[in-house]
Amino acid sequence: MQTNWPENWDIAVAADRAHVWHHMSQHKIYETTNPTVMVEGKGLRLWDAAGNEYLDALSGGVWTVNVGYGRESIADAVREQLVKLNYFAGSGGTVPGAVFAQKLLEKMPGFSRVYYSNSGSEANEKVFKMVRQISAQHHGGRKGKILFRDRDYHGTTIGVLAACGQAQRAEAYGPYPDGFVEVPHCLEYRRADGTDAPFGEVAARQIEEVILREGPDTIGALCLEPITAGGGVVVPPEGYWKNVQALCRKYDILLHIDEVVCGIGRTGTWFGYQNYGIQPDFVTMAKGVASGYAAISCTVTTEAVFEKFKMAPDDPMSFFRDISTFGGCTAGPAAAIENLRIIEDEGLLGNTVEMGAYLGEQLSILQDEFPVIGQVRGKGLFWGAELVTDRTTKEPVSEVSMKEIVGGCRKQGVLIGMTNRSLPGFNNTLCLSPALIARRDDIDEIVSAIRTSLRDVRL
Ligand code: PMP
Repeated sequence: MQTNWPENWDIAVAADRAHVWHHMSQHKIYETTNPTVMVEGKGLRLWDAAGNEYLDALSGGVWTVNVGYGRESIADAVREQLVKLNYFAGSGGTVPGAVFAQKLLEKMPGFSRVYYSNSGSEANEKVFKMVRQISAQHHGGRKGKILFRDRDYHGTTIGVLAACGQAQRAEAYGPYPDGFVEVPHCLEYRRADGTDAPFGEVAARQIEEVILREGPDTIGALCLEPITAGGGVVVPPEGYWKNVQALCRKYDILLHIDEVVCGIGRTGTWFGYQNYGIQPDFVTMAKGVASGYAAISCTVTTEAVFEKFKMAPDDPMSFFRDISTFGGCTAGPAAAIENLRIIEDEGLLGNTVEMGAYLGEQLSILQDEFPVIGQVRGKGLFWGAELVTDRTTKEPVSEVSMKEIVGGCRKQGVLIGMTNRSLPGFNNTLCLSPALIARRDDIDEIVSAIRTSLRDVRL
């Protein structure tokens, strides 16, 4: 419990229970229990309205608060900017937008343009629109198909749900636009090809089969997460990315990497793709860009792509006919500039590599203790533990048991996650992504809570 808890937040809890429709939540339980309403955060710690303290191993529930809670310098930077100029959009820019773009691109050799919006979904949808417009202008409308991968997620709007590799998230909301085609996942633990050939080659060949079946001339882009997040924390096999990049070059397909989760340090490099020596054509990012201190997302691309939109001025398609109202808020880039400074000045990429390795080691020790842990996988401070009832058959642990394990950690004051209503029968991966400031004792506390929870749950 936080000491000196001064306020009575019962009114907020009652108002939340009566009026707020929570994301991803089944509300029946709130007929008999109170929802959690968070009040305060500092570092990796959170306090709710009932005064409970939590160690947040998820960076705000969904991999977002990379620099941790309670950063006064970000709040100060945002305040200073808001009183000077809060907003301008349409056909002009703002000073923090320009400054952040330049600082961001210094971390991204080969890229030169940043398009602002305010959510991961929107950033991804901008790419889809750009690809479709390139197809319309330069390929007679024939090269507009977009490939996405089983298990990957790119957002919540109908456009990006058309590219959703997590069936349960999309099933109620169709019909979807045409021209989105799924390719197989790259989770070696669940490979289904029945060979022992290097899986980095097999998984890329499976993509090539789809390209050939659809016709390379019809495909504009391939959209992938560098490490799949909600679909099971899938770290691609050795060689995969090099092969995927080669396919894109061979068939003239633009490579779009969705860094909404991995971007801005999560895996110990600025971007997930930078672990793999590849050079995409589009990179999208959102969550860690301003660590949740303000809403901001970016669609980043190359000069070669940008140039394709500079047609003759009298051509009706001579520019990208798109706008994002809140892409003109200055709070986002102002927060993002300070967020980048913190990561640099506090050496948080190095900390992520070091603490990520430690977290991985501790999870491997846990795997030796508990046969239910089929595989641990991750990079930086981004880890998953896939739970199975039998290591040979790899039968997934039931969703009910998964919820008990997550709930057991929560009772001990540690917030961890699980793959969430994404793949039918496969919501069996525990997810961990503490803020990039995590220290050894935080990791010990997280792993210890999982250990206790695994001991207590009857599987
Ligand atoms: N891409 C990925 C990989 C994500 O995990 C998410 C959100 N969890 C999104 C896109 C969508 O971002 P947003 O919720 O900000 O629209």
